[in-house]
Order: sequence, then structure tokens, then C-alpha cells
Amino acid sequence: MASSRKSFSIGDIQCVAISDGTFSYPVEWIFSNAPKEQLEDSLRNHDLPLNQVVTPYTCLLVKAGKQKVLIDTGADGLAPTTGDLLTQLQAEGVTPEEITAVVLTHAHPDHIGGVLDANRHPAFPNARYVMSRTEWNFWTSDPNLSGTGMNDHVKELLISFARNNLPPLEERIELLDGEKEVVPGVFAIPAPGHTPGHLAVVVSSSQAQLLHMVDSVLHPMNVEHPAWRNVFDLNEDTAATTRRQLLDRAAADNASVLAYHFPFPGLGRVTNHGNAWRWEAASQS
Ligand SMILES: [Zn+2]
Repeated sequence: MASSRKSFSIGDIQCVAISDGTFSYPVEWIFSNAPKEQLEDSLRNHDLPLNQVVTPYTCLLVKAGKQKVLIDTGADGLAPTTGDLLTQLQAEGVTPEEITAVVLTHAHPDHIGGVLDANRHPAFPNARYVMSRTEWNFWTSDPNLSGTGMNDHVKELLISFARNNLPPLEERIELLDGEKEVVPGVFAIPAPGHTPGHLAVVVSSSQAQLLHMVDSVLHPMNVEHPAWRNVFDLNEDTAATTRRQLLDRAAADNASVLAYHFPFPGLGRVTNHGNAWRWEAASQS
């Protein structure tokens, strides 16, 4: 069985990529505007099936000094194949009580699935919960999901997860405006488009940098084809601009890169390649 946790370091900061599980999506949801022949060629070149995209959910634990920061909480409740985060944290020797901050990059079900425990209390009882103010306001008012390619079932799923999982955090949530250093060395960076307040995360220590693109790039093939879109981006044009900016930054800085839905652990680097980029997955050793 493939490993569910991958430790790596960024300077003096210890990180652990943690799998919450996987789920399969129709290929046209992940690549909604890709020309069919080009898409199928690309899928074949990557030895991938033509009809579905198996999509991992990868949370990130960041141990920075006395802080233990969790980036996203997985997709508990979405499918029988998800919701493994707490078990994996336990196997890592980390209890929910030890988590000092939880960064919610955005309020999609696969990122806020694990925010509450069975009693609908915060699952990480001693943690600050951090999210963009724009994101919180969008999902806790009456979110307008028209103009996206999502079907009604998916739209209702997104709205119901936000409606169930966000209000119990109201007393606890810390809302961010713009870029913010959440704890020393861990920065939340606005990366809008996928959702209005979508955040990327930068971990920085001793000249080393991790750029976590989260859902700005959903699949490694998007690195080669940054113009290919998906049905989940709420503002496709803004998402496309953000995608290019982050890929550009990752290549220019020669940063370590993480992406939430890339094949586990989702860790690698981005290099320039003509008008696009190339994804180089980190070696598994
Ligand atoms: Zn996601």
C-alpha cells in the first residue's frame, strides 16, 4: 500500500504531507475546456485513465518551533475513501489538542471536511482557525455559484458543507485581509479565482521555501497546460491569472512546491518550459 505520510524539511521547519484519502472525478470536470484529442494524448503520455481522474486530498502539517500548523482538514464526510487525516496524525504522534493553528485555504468540502468533531465542536480544540475574510463572507452569506460548470448536485454539496461546517467556527475563526504571517515562517497569500478568498501558503526558513499552490493548480497536466480549466473555479479568468503567477513564482524562486490534489505527496518543483512549465515530482526516497 502506498504511504500516507511524507516528511520533508524546509530549512529548520519540519513538514509532513498527510493523505486524507482520494476520490475519482469525471475527467471533463478537471479538464473542462481541453481539446479532446490533445487531452487524451496527454493522459496517455502520463499513463492515466481516459475517463476519470483519481484525485488525492493532501493536508500539510507544519512544525515551526512550538507551533504545529495544519493546512486544511481533508474531505471527511465526502466519500468512504476520505477522512483519514486524524488517524494519520495519530500515527505521526500528533494529537488534535497539539495543533496550534489550522489554515483553511478555502471552504470547499474537501478542505473543511475535518474542521468539526462528532459533537460539532472544533476538532482541534486549542487551535486558532484562520481563513480569508472574503472567503468566509462569501460562503456564510448566500453564495452565488452560477456561471460555473458545476452541476446542481455539486453546487448543493458545496453549499451544504459550508452551511454545516462553518457556523460552529464563528466564535473561533480568525479572518485575514491580504497576506499574513500566520506563525513565524508560515505565510497565507491571497490566490483568488478557484474561490473568491482562496489562499496559497508559503513556508520559509533559512533561504529555503515551500510554495503550496493548494487548488490553484489541480493536476500536474495543468503545469504544462495552464490554460486548461476546470468546472470548480468560480472565476475562471482570475483563477487562470493566479495559476500563471504562482507557477511563474515557483520556477523563478526554484521553490519546493506542493499541490493539494497532485499524486501523493504532491511535492516537487516547477521549471520553465517555453510558454508554460514542467512539473518535476520529488523523488520518493
Ligand atoms: Zn480541493
